[in-house]
Amino acid sequence: MSSARSGLLLVISAPSGTGKSTLIKRLRQEFPRLAFSVSYTTRPPRPGEENGRDYHFVSKEQFHQLQVDGSLAEWAEVHGNLYGTSQPAVQEMLNKGSDVLFDIDVQGARQLRQAFDYGSFIFLFPPSRQVLEQRLRGRGTEDSRSLNQRLANARRELEQAELFDTWIINDDLEQAYRDLRSVYLAEGLRSRYNGELMAHILSTWTESKLGSSS
Ligand code: 5GP
Repeated sequence: MSSARSGLLLVISAPSGTGKSTLIKRLRQEFPRLAFSVSYTTRPPRPGEENGRDYHFVSKEQFHQLQVDGSLAEWAEVHGNLYGTSQPAVQEMLNKGSDVLFDIDVQGARQLRQAFDYGSFIFLFPPSRQVLEQRLRGRGTEDSRSLNQRLANARRELEQAELFDTWIINDDLEQAYRDLRSVYLAEGLRSRYNGELMAHILSTWTESKLGSSS
């Protein structure tokens, strides 16, 4: 029996300002073997961001070339910039058996659902529209045009939450993190006990245990 398995896809989407980055950072710290899909983007790096670690920062021309080459598993325009997932990089990580975490928007999650016929799709909710607005304002990173754009996008994204397998409401960070790690651990078990391994356990159980206990 082989316990080799293809890795798990863990896709996390949330409206901007929901606390997704904080939760993802914690998950990656606790599970360093969880691979991260580093996206391509045409947006300029923010202070502290590193090329190749946070994103692959590319020009619009380079991004279009990736589209033409068919190198993107999905792509979308978000808040006026282009973002996309590297198909070969993800495939390689999955083939190695690594679980792969995606931080992508709802449009991208929808496309990944089609590109891969498995995976766990998680949507993070802000506690309310008011709290989301307060958080975005409090960050102080957006001007009023960008803030309004992010709020309009949030509304559109919330309307598509049904696409996802699991909903987590981030009104308490500790609870939201416990929920997120529980989903990841449970998904790991589900995929581990799928297929070959499950058949093996079942056959062993049937041969050695059934009939001998009653
Ligand atoms: P930010 O610019 O704040 O890092 O990301 C903006 C949004 O783009 C976030 O919702 C993030 O999840 C999304 N995003 C990041 N990478 C990708 C990607 O490869 N594909 C898609 N569709 N969205 C992405």
